Amino acid sequence: MKPAPFRYEAPRSLPDALALLDGEDARALAGGQSLVPMLNFRLAWPELIVDLNRVSELAHLQVRDGALRIGALARQATLHRSDVVAAGWPLLTAAVAHVGHAAIRTRGTVGGSVAHADPAAELPVALTALDARFHLRSRDGERTLSAAELFQGALTTALAPGELLREIEVPAPVPGARTAFLEQARTHGDFAVAGVAALVAPGAHAAIALLGAAAVPVRAVAAERALLDGASAGEVARLAAADVPDHYRRALLTTLTERALERVMA
Ligand SMILES: Cc1cc2nc3c(=O)[nH]c(=O)nc-3n(C[C@H](O)[C@H](O)[C@H](O)COP(=O)(O)OP(=O)(O)OC[C@H]3O[C@@H](n4cnc5c(N)ncnc54)[C@H](O)[C@@H]3O)c2cc1C
Repeated sequence: MKPAPFRYEAPRSLPDALALLDGEDARALAGGQSLVPMLNFRLAWPELIVDLNRVSELAHLQVRDGALRIGALARQATLHRSDVVAAGWPLLTAAVAHVGHAAIRTRGTVGGSVAHADPAAELPVALTALDARFHLRSRDGERTLSAAELFQGALTTALAPGELLREIEVPAPVPGARTAFLEQARTHGDFAVAGVAALVAPGAHAAIALLGAAAVPVRAVAAERALLDGASAGEVARLAAADVPDHYRRALLTTLTERALERVMA
């Protein structure tokens, strides 16, 4: 199918983009890898498309004050190729490698993946494990949300009409931490059926985020505590997936989590 008719604007600054998004039935366009199929299938029919691709102030990927700052328009491929990210935040490098294929990552943006909030997407889960902060901007100002506050359901976030994700801030690496991202997909490049992002600094810090346990990324808080209290990888994995209602996903998540923990604690 073809999309319903829409008006198209391509602003060059963030204030201009926010002005266009304010008050109309408008939708931001980033990499287009999810929005364009939605337009073609007429699952979305905005009156106005605001193309963010010329808003260069959204495209950064840099370290400031020890934290990684990912502009919403930074491409998934840029994240994948970054030596700085691989050295400091290898969980992101591992997670983004599972996103689609090279062609998708070349256009697809980190911000688009977060804003689209597909329950099977890898980056929201890795960012949840990393305690990322999400900076949102509208004409009224800026607010910052945690992953738990931002992700509200399948394809649903706390982003309000007229509001853009501006930047994702990932805190400085935890000293001594090791990380693993594992997933099960039908074929490589497919959206995952289940997955896990783990970050462990023995005796100091544990973060386990699950993909496929619910419609949003889930932090396995009780399992993280048990890990720090010295429970085995198997015990922690069973605890992490214990509340997943679907038997198949629960078994998958238990196995993936145990393998991820064995890897980071080896
Ligand atoms: C064949 C195929 C396979 C794929 N496989 C995977 C996969 O395995 N794993 C995975 O995670 N993803 C996968 N994707 C999706 C891909 O990662 C997309 O790039 C991503 O979901 C959306 O990013 P985008 O930049 O293309 O955003 P767009 O498609 O341009 O936008 C998506 C949504 O986010 C909104 N949006 C975008 N940027 C912002 C912003 N800064 N602020 C507020 N709202 C914004 C848009 O309005 C739209 O609603 C796949 C896509 C395709 C086509």
